[in-house]
Amino acid sequence: MNIHEFQAKQIFKTFDVPVLEGYHAETPEQAEKAAEKLSSDKYVVKAQIHAGGRGKAGGVKIVSSPKEVHDAAQEMLGKTLVTHQTGPEGKTVKKLYVEAAANITGEFYLGITLDRQQSMPVMMASTEGGVEIEKVAEETTEKILKATINPLYGLQAFQIREMAFGLGLTKEQMKHFGKFAAALYNVYIENDASLIEINPLALLDDDRLIALDAKMGFDDNALFRQKEIVEMRDFSEEEPTETEADKYGMSYVKLDGNVGCMVNGAGLAMSTMDIIKYKGGEPANFLDVGGGASAETVAKGMEIILNDSAVKAIFINIFGGIVRCDRIANGIIQATQHVDIPVPVVVRLDGTNAHEAMDILKNSEIPQLVAAKDLNEGAEKVVHIVKN
Ligand code: GDP
Ligand code: MN
Repeated sequence: MNIHEFQAKQIFKTFDVPVLEGYHAETPEQAEKAAEKLSSDKYVVKAQIHAGGRGKAGGVKIVSSPKEVHDAAQEMLGKTLVTHQTGPEGKTVKKLYVEAAANITGEFYLGITLDRQQSMPVMMASTEGGVEIEKVAEETTEKILKATINPLYGLQAFQIREMAFGLGLTKEQMKHFGKFAAALYNVYIENDASLIEINPLALLDDDRLIALDAKMGFDDNALFRQKEIVEMRDFSEEEPTETEADKYGMSYVKLDGNVGCMVNGAGLAMSTMDIIKYKGGEPANFLDVGGGASAETVAKGMEIILNDSAVKAIFINIFGGIVRCDRIANGIIQATQHVDIPVPVVVRLDGTNAHEAMDILKNSEIPQLVAAKDLNEGAEKVVHIVKN
């Protein structure tokens, strides 16, 4: 789960990570009022969408009066911003953040995420702040400083010093950086974050450091103990079908291909996508219907897959371990009665009562259904269908 910049900055504030004074607004009037509350003569109006790169797309404006804040807000609200992180369809601006503008003398990058290879959090810093950090990481790897943090000991003073030296900070700036980095690590740990990115981490003319931008993502498996974070969820920023699937305990991720996949278990779902690719096809989605695939979940899964108009065929690949295949087969038949299925459906069922299940499907004489005896044959058949 991700949150907006203004929400991340609220969290920062409670953990003493320095941010500028700011207020969130959803109308031009609210934006103007927000500006009037700020003790500054320059203001930044920032579009709140779950994507970076807003600056270049016109989603960050610096102005010098509350009236100008009003006008900038009016222009930004309702606009669709297309950035390198939104995809070509862009994201509509519904919320703004109005902040006091700062006189910045330098821009750094600072982030924390999980290093899956080391199984530990890693803090990353770079002098190349304010720009696309992905490019820096790819083209000039040496410009990214890294500190792997053992969660048992926490962020160590020597690690902070190493990074501060690497960034070329002065003695005075180092003091501020030390406090900043330590506070940020607390934010990461205490909130079960999976990612924090500050780009830019701005240097002010009095040597203080400020989080000018803030991006936070969270570990979904820890949300049960992060009630305040869950309340920050903005469904309008998420893919609606993904949210819908989530309600039924299924994980769905939309992809670019045309073979719809319905599978039980994340591992089997991954290998199903692999084998479709191996046979020359492109999966339209990842869909894990979970361990207890029932008639209802199969029907809901069909509906979600068919929501994507690119889907030309569906591959149902279920292993009956916890669930019996004959029940799944009945579920599929029931689903065809509830959902209009305009594309062929290749079905591979294996495990408990697989033979009975295949008989049930054959006897149903539903024209869309194509039986496959194993994973290999199923993948071949479904790819053959979409290619012809
Ligand atoms: P992003 O483009 O979505 O990453 O949005 P950012 O919050 O990073 O803003 C983009 C750029 O606007 C930053 O890199 C800064 O250069 C600039 N910017 C944002 N806030 C301020 C501010 O308060 N003062 C100044 N001078 N520049 C700012
Ligand atoms: Mn940024």
